[in-house]
Amino acid sequence: MAIPLIQQARIGAYVLKHRVKGTKRYPLVLMLEPLFRCNLACAGCGKIDYPDDILNQRLSVKDCLDAVDECGAPVVAIPGGEPLLHKEMDQIVAGIVARKKFVIMCTNALLLEKKLHLFTPSPYLTFSIHLDGLKEEHDKSVCQHGVFDRAVAATRKAREMGFRVIANCTLFDNANPERVAQFMDYAMNDLGVEHVTMSPGYAYERAPDQQHFLSRKKTKVLFREILKRGKGKKWRFSQSTNFLDFLAGNREYHCTPWGMPTRNVFGWQRPCYLLGEGYANSFRELMEETEWDKYGTGNYEKCSNCMVHCGYEPSSVTDTLKHPLKALKTTVFGIKTEGEMAPEIDLSKARPAEWVHDRNVAKFLTDLHTKRQAAKARESNAA
Ligand code: SF4
Ligand code: SF4
Repeated sequence: MAIPLIQQARIGAYVLKHRVKGTKRYPLVLMLEPLFRCNLACAGCGKIDYPDDILNQRLSVKDCLDAVDECGAPVVAIPGGEPLLHKEMDQIVAGIVARKKFVIMCTNALLLEKKLHLFTPSPYLTFSIHLDGLKEEHDKSVCQHGVFDRAVAATRKAREMGFRVIANCTLFDNANPERVAQFMDYAMNDLGVEHVTMSPGYAYERAPDQQHFLSRKKTKVLFREILKRGKGKKWRFSQSTNFLDFLAGNREYHCTPWGMPTRNVFGWQRPCYLLGEGYANSFRELMEETEWDKYGTGNYEKCSNCMVHCGYEPSSVTDTLKHPLKALKTTVFGIKTEGEMAPEIDLSKARPAEWVHDRNVAKFLTDLHTKRQAAKARESNAA
């Protein structure tokens, strides 16, 4: 099953509207992170090692829906932390669906079976289940035995209840193409998810395990090896064909970080979901005051190994619109998995990494404590 027609039509109309208006930068997907707290502690995660004061922060229902309205993107992805730990997640989802936006909730599924009754099946709601491979690989990736079985049981239950379910799989440098191919067969034919979103892991500066992320060259070789094994099998990916072609080394794109802006407990994150280089107070400020040319592969050292969807899927969508016949040709004839690759972006002029995130976190904590003390002082004055 392809991405639902209603979703394709809505996104197509949205993109067309912006192209006709000549909008220079517009978002496709809002990455909404209402909390960083999680009930797992995966080695490759760069979101969960904050102090408790930050892990205990939540975006309210109003914060979330204001962000959705302010941003205007047709799709809202809710990664985390674990979204189902947010006590008002059902209200957040219901509010987004009521706005006729497509919600993709990314969950490790540990709480999903218990919480499914809070949600209503809808073409606007998709659960994206974190599965980094078959049982052995997934349990290793999430550093806990038994998680694969629970995620699979929750996936089956959600499908039985009529929910739209996809899987998201992050690959690291120890990925074995044969095992990934077996996982794809399992996800398509046994588990029956509608699609798989397959991403190369990115070395978050905060991730505890910095050793096992993929470089661009390794990503391209790995995706070629995986796609080779899928020829003729009709595997369903949620990424665009152009983006998969990019991952297989057949196209070179420059990053479009504003295509998937991130709103989290710190504010509007600059420049993307992966890098916390600063925060804007509003979506408008993010779009207008971020120095976008400072980021992306070839521009910034921290972006050198990135091929992640939050920067490059929007570039693929733009390319599809500019060159529809080329995209159609790739769809019809398949993705090339042999031969020369497209030339890699020159990294020699990338500006050096700046280590600003810890400073931003420290400032956030200072501001938080100041606000708390002011609130306490107001309370005792009133008493
Ligand atoms: S499930 Fe997701 S948010 Fe939770 S620790 Fe793992 S990668 Fe991080
Ligand atoms: S290349 Fe783009 S998406 Fe990747 S880390 Fe840099 S700005 Fe973010």
